[in-house]
Amino acid sequence: MEIAVVGAGIGGLTLAIALQRAGVTVDLYERAEELREVGAAVALSANGTRELSRLGVGEALDAVSTQPTELIYRDGRTAERIAAHPGGADYRARFGAPYWGIHRVDLQQTLAAAVDPARLHLGRAATAVRNEPAGVAVVTFDDGSTVTADVVVGADGVHSVVRDAVAGTGQGPVYSGTSAFRGLVRRADLPSLPDPLAIQFWTGPHAHLLHYAMGGTARNDDTINFFAVLCGPDAWQGGTRDAAPGELLDGFAGWHPAVREMLAAVPQSPRWPLLSQPPLTRWTRGRVVLLGDACHAMLPHHGQGANQSIEDAVVLAELLGGTDPDTALATYPRRRRARTRAVARSAWETGTLLHLPDPRPGHDHELDELKARDARFENYLDANAWVHEYTATAAATTTGEVA
Ligand code: FAD
Repeated sequence: MEIAVVGAGIGGLTLAIALQRAGVTVDLYERAEELREVGAAVALSANGTRELSRLGVGEALDAVSTQPTELIYRDGRTAERIAAHPGGADYRARFGAPYWGIHRVDLQQTLAAAVDPARLHLGRAATAVRNEPAGVAVVTFDDGSTVTADVVVGADGVHSVVRDAVAGTGQGPVYSGTSAFRGLVRRADLPSLPDPLAIQFWTGPHAHLLHYAMGGTARNDDTINFFAVLCGPDAWQGGTRDAAPGELLDGFAGWHPAVREMLAAVPQSPRWPLLSQPPLTRWTRGRVVLLGDACHAMLPHHGQGANQSIEDAVVLAELLGGTDPDTALATYPRRRRARTRAVARSAWETGTLLHLPDPRPGHDHELDELKARDARFENYLDANAWVHEYTATAAATTTGEVA
C-alpha cells in the first residue's frame, strides 16, 4: 500500500512517522520550500506528547520544550489568582506524559528529522485531488504533475484543498467573531510579570491574554509566547490584516501593568481572525481522507488543535497499518469524530467564559455568571481530565469505538 500525504504540518509529519514505523510506504508533499515556521509557538498536552514519545521523538522534543510550572487563571485587571493547577512534574505524574511549550519550528524540524528524507517532498503545492475507479486517488500539483496512491490524506490545514474533494466546496471554517494578536517576548523584558514560567490566562471583559514560556530552560531560552484575543470585529473577510497603530493596547486599556507591559514589549503583530470548522458530514470519500485542521479546525482556547491532529494521525496510521484501506477509512471517522467534536465544543465554551462582560449595576444574574466562571476555572483540570488523560492508540486497539 502506498500513501500520499498532502501537508507536512504537525498532523502530516506525525502520520508519516507513525506509518513508517508500521512499515507502510508513505510520501509527504508540502507546499513550503522549507519547514521553518519561525515566530510561532505551540503548547502540547499529555494526550499529544504521550503519542510523540511513543513514536520515538519525545526525548528530542523534551530538550527544546519548557514545562509550565502551573496553569493559572488571573483577573486581567487586578492580577488576582482566580484559580491555579499544578504543572511540571505533578502534571506529568497525573497524566503520564508532559506538557510542553515549544517553538513551532523546533517541533516541525524534530518531526521532519524522523521522516525518511527521500519521502519528504518540499515545494509541492497540491491544487486538486480526485478518486479513480480503480480504487486509487490522484493528487495534482501546481506544476501540472500528478501522483497516484492507494490512499491520499489531506493534512493541509485549515484552508485545505483536499477538503473540497471530500466534503465539497464551500464547507470550510467560519469566523468566530473573535480575533487575536500574538508575540514572542523575552522574560527579561517583563519585570512586572508574576509566575513567568506558568501558563497563564488573564481574563476580562471581551478579551483575554494567554502566555507560556517555551524553548527549553536547559538551553537558556527565555522566550515567552503570548496570544491576546479580542472579541470582534463582527465580520471578517480574508486572512490576517495589519492593525492600526495601538489597536492591541487599546483593546486592553485599564488592564494590569504586567499585561500591558507584555503586549507593548514587541512590535504589534498583524491581527488574526479566529476560525472554527462546523462539523463535516464526511471525513472520507473513496480513497481520500482528511485529518487535523483540514476537517476539524477549532478555537485555540484549549490548546488542542495540534494535539487533536496528533491523535488523528496515530489512529489513522494504526488503522492503515493493520487492515485494508477501505476498512481503515471506514473505521477512522467513527473513532475520531465524537472526540474531536467534544474538544472543539469545549474550546468554544471556554472562550465564552474567558470573555465574560462586567456585571452591570443591579444585574445580580451577571455577577452569578462571574462566580460560576470562577468555579469552572477552579475545577478546570478535573473537569477536563478527559482531554489530557486520553490515549488515542490504546483507545483504538482496545475499545474500538470511542464515545
Ligand atoms: P498545519 O499544522 O496547519 O499544517 C498544514 C500543512 O499543510 C502546512 O505545512 C501547509 O504549508 C501545508 N499545506 C497547506 N496547503 C497545502 C497544499 N495545497 N499543498 C501542500 N501542502 C499544503 N494547537 C495546540 O494544540 N496547541 C496550541 O498551543 C495551539 N496554539 C495555536 C495558536 C494559534 C495562534 C493558532 C492559529 C493555532 C493554534 N493551535 C494550537 C492549533 C494548531 O496550530 C493547529 O490545530 C495545528 O497546526 C493543525 O495541524 P495540521 O497538521 O492539521 O495543520
